[in-house]
Amino acid sequence: MQFALHELSFLAYSYPDNRNLMTFADLGLSPELLQAVETAGYTEPTAIQAEAIPAVLMMKDLIGIAQTGTGKTASFVLPMIDVMAAGRRRALMPRSLILEPTRELAAQVAENFEKYGKNHDLKMALLIGGVQMGDQIKALDEGVDVLIATPGRMMDLFERGKILLSGCELLVIDEADRMLDMGFIPDIEFICDKLPETRQTMLFSATMPAPIEKLAKKFLSSPKRIETARAATTNKDITTFKVPVHARKKRETLRWLLQNDHVETAIIFANRKTTVRELNKSLQRHGFASGEIHGDMDQNSRLKELERFKSGDVNILVASDVAARGLDIKGVSHVFNFDTPWHPDDYVHRIGRTGRAGAKGRAFTLVSDEDAEAIENVEKLTGNPVKVFGKEDVRVELAARDAEPEAEEREERPKKEAKKASRKPREEKRPPDEAADEKKRKPRKARERQEDSEPVPAGEWNGPKPGFLDVGFGE
Ligand code: ADP
Ligand code: MG
Repeated sequence: MQFALHELSFLAYSYPDNRNLMTFADLGLSPELLQAVETAGYTEPTAIQAEAIPAVLMMKDLIGIAQTGTGKTASFVLPMIDVMAAGRRRALMPRSLILEPTRELAAQVAENFEKYGKNHDLKMALLIGGVQMGDQIKALDEGVDVLIATPGRMMDLFERGKILLSGCELLVIDEADRMLDMGFIPDIEFICDKLPETRQTMLFSATMPAPIEKLAKKFLSSPKRIETARAATTNKDITTFKVPVHARKKRETLRWLLQNDHVETAIIFANRKTTVRELNKSLQRHGFASGEIHGDMDQNSRLKELERFKSGDVNILVASDVAARGLDIKGVSHVFNFDTPWHPDDYVHRIGRTGRAGAKGRAFTLVSDEDAEAIENVEKLTGNPVKVFGKEDVRVELAARDAEPEAEEREERPKKEAKKASRKPREEKRPPDEAADEKKRKPRKARERQEDSEPVPAGEWNGPKPGFLDVGFGE
């Protein structure tokens, strides 16, 4: 059998403490399942899988804390298939329930069930928004072993009496910290209260903020706690940089990095949906093959856009946090934070899109005045200052390259549009303090503009250099 190099380095990453390598066969899974795992191409369990699978098979409650990209999905899907193999389906009464924060994640977990469960006679149904409800109800009528749902759609059907939770023996709350961010905790509490008390409950999360601890305490009974990496640490396979930059230079800086940092595939995150849309348009105008994914798009267009990215039609995906949460996209060489996320946890999730399964990745965060506080919070959470991108980190011979002409930015934003853009965008929800600050901030912006138009000292560079580097080098 052949191994891709990234799979092997992934193992090294999973076992930092050099304990004996386990095989899937050591974990107590059935031969049918082992065969499906082999077909899927997984040779060794990840750390969380090695610890979680035996516990789930023993019907224990479980809290699994491991950073993004460490294979948490298979750590419950695999043993669940064996646990569910015994027992019978009944109409309207799903035997197990997996809650996912987004439709995309729910769809991914369903794919996992299909992949690993191909040797088992298990029925699965997916209850997600944006999909015709008729088929979902029909599947429930016929009885399902595994129901994968987003809390919203689940509540919807429950309230219409289309689903009974009294036969549900097993519950998985996946990506619990995302659930929290998206305001789903009350829904989850409601759902948990409808489930039988004697059941197996598993909770998975990359981080364990206080409300999640509380939730776990309330709905899990003497759970086994598995923690494979300190909460909120970031992956050592990801090299992270921050790039101090003036707000209006962000696009130009981003383009420079996209062209010069050996970018193969990149996800660019922005905090606001409008920024996602505008940035994508701007990148396309500049000849980049980019797509976009954000919460305003319906399910179909999101999946289509994701497919274009996965198939290589486009190599750049501009994304909002909600739309990109937990997406399993392999081999992303770069993550860019066009702005610093307001929630520091999101930073960990965003950069977790690169460096997945052991591959090396680079993550850049563009930091303007507006991002100063947010990046401080990130550094507090991760316990590490993010390195300022410096000349030693530049991957190309700068002297050999021409800096981009300044005119470009002007051409991109004709005067009329610039006027429009300075008006307050309507549809975006912004943190209250930010909106209130807007007026105060205006004079500062004007001052920045002046600074920007001052001649740039040549510094120690041997030739033209990208303007944004000045800011970081404190010349
Ligand atoms: P998480 O939920 O922890 O963020 P996922 O379950 O989405 O992570 O898995 C991340 C990636 O790792 C996926 O591409 C998955 O196919 C891959 N993966 C999972 N388990 C293994 C394994 N044992 N060996 C190799 N790759 C794996
Ligand atoms: Mg996951």
